[in-house]
Amino acid sequence: MTESRNPRPAADDRDDFLSLDELQARQDAKLAALGRRLAHSPQWQAHFAAAGASPLDLKDRASLAALPLLEKSHLRNLYPYPLLTVPLEQVVRFCATSGTTGLPVLFGFTLKDWEHTLVRQLARIYRTVGVRPGDRVYQGYGYGLWVGGSSMDEALKAYGAVNFPVGPGRGELMVQWLKDHRHTVTTMSPLWLMTLIQQARKAGIDPRRDWALRLGIFGGQSVSATFRNEMEALMPEGFMAHNIYGTTEAGGPVLGISCPHSHGEDEMHLVNDDSVLTEVLEPQTLRPVAPGEVGEIVITTLDKEASPVLRWRTRDLVRRSAHPYRCACGRHAFARIGRIIGRSDDMLKVRGVLVYPSQIEDVIAGVEGLAKDAWQIYIDNERSGLDHMEVAIERVAGSACASDDLAREVRSRLKARLGLSCEVRCHEDGTLPRYEAKATRVLRRSKETLNPTP
Ligand SMILES: [Zn+2]
Repeated sequence: MTESRNPRPAADDRDDFLSLDELQARQDAKLAALGRRLAHSPQWQAHFAAAGASPLDLKDRASLAALPLLEKSHLRNLYPYPLLTVPLEQVVRFCATSGTTGLPVLFGFTLKDWEHTLVRQLARIYRTVGVRPGDRVYQGYGYGLWVGGSSMDEALKAYGAVNFPVGPGRGELMVQWLKDHRHTVTTMSPLWLMTLIQQARKAGIDPRRDWALRLGIFGGQSVSATFRNEMEALMPEGFMAHNIYGTTEAGGPVLGISCPHSHGEDEMHLVNDDSVLTEVLEPQTLRPVAPGEVGEIVITTLDKEASPVLRWRTRDLVRRSAHPYRCACGRHAFARIGRIIGRSDDMLKVRGVLVYPSQIEDVIAGVEGLAKDAWQIYIDNERSGLDHMEVAIERVAGSACASDDLAREVRSRLKARLGLSCEVRCHEDGTLPRYEAKATRVLRRSKETLNPTP
């Protein structure tokens, strides 16, 4: 640990309860320092110059708003080490985005980034949900180039937790181990826990009675509150499923986490806003949205030495809380946001009505007899210019309801929720695509073939 005053990140909560004034003063000072740092980088100089600006124009939060945003195309053009800003020899490891299209984009970490900044950021996440040193953690995020698993390993070690770095999969083993090792905390995709619950029951294990899990830190996939409530009801008494949010560009899963008070309202705190500054901007006008409104998350890393980002467009859409700075937990400086409701790329305008895939997910999650993890939106572009939307759902095997009834029910709920009539087709169990990481819920088909094209 490079900072001697912080030998045990588990205990050091002095900054968790900053006032908003203190937080903003810290952000202003760090932004000015970032501008001075980026001024030494030819790549960053060129990026600013293309927008008629200079890194030295970055002085505080007010000046940030006029500076250029950063998009995926910028990074791709700077292959193989975009905006690295430190000599390659100072990088101790790389992480990469999933790269569903094209080559993965590499983000470097210096020793300080990895062992100090990231560890401190994740310790704050752990404190917010109530992880304790000595907790037995079933670490289920993936490894390799993905930042999820390896970042958790590093931070859990520093925090004093007992880590079981299992990674994804190994369901048969884990339903038994959760009983035998009495894991108290888990980090994984929420869809995977649901799979484990079902597997456990088949193996004669009742998670509610036989497991000891108290906390889940669920990322990689945003699920509806209904899905979460259902999952919690199948788990040991008092089990809380917390949503975590982060990105590789931000330096890890460090941006958002729910606290025990915001959990009920399905909201997270931007709990590291003094280290990764978050703007929530209207995707077209790029103006900040008001509390209660939906916008895109745009991030600026304030502490990261290697591969910092300035105003990176995550494309993730979120609703700002109606009361962002009031939470009973006392984290008044760290604004609250809702769960991630979709991608700005996925935002649909169907016959003039704005539709977010998450609204459709909410409807599907509320109907008994449907697979919660398998559904799809197909958009057909018709010549008239009006989009035609079809929602594909899946009936779980053994459901008491007929496919036609399920389709009719979803159609009428969608009509009530969106004010939009759309076609709903119900398929049999196992027909629709499953996604291991981020799901692609919206598929566009051309009129000629009507074949789904991702
Ligand atoms: Zn709170």
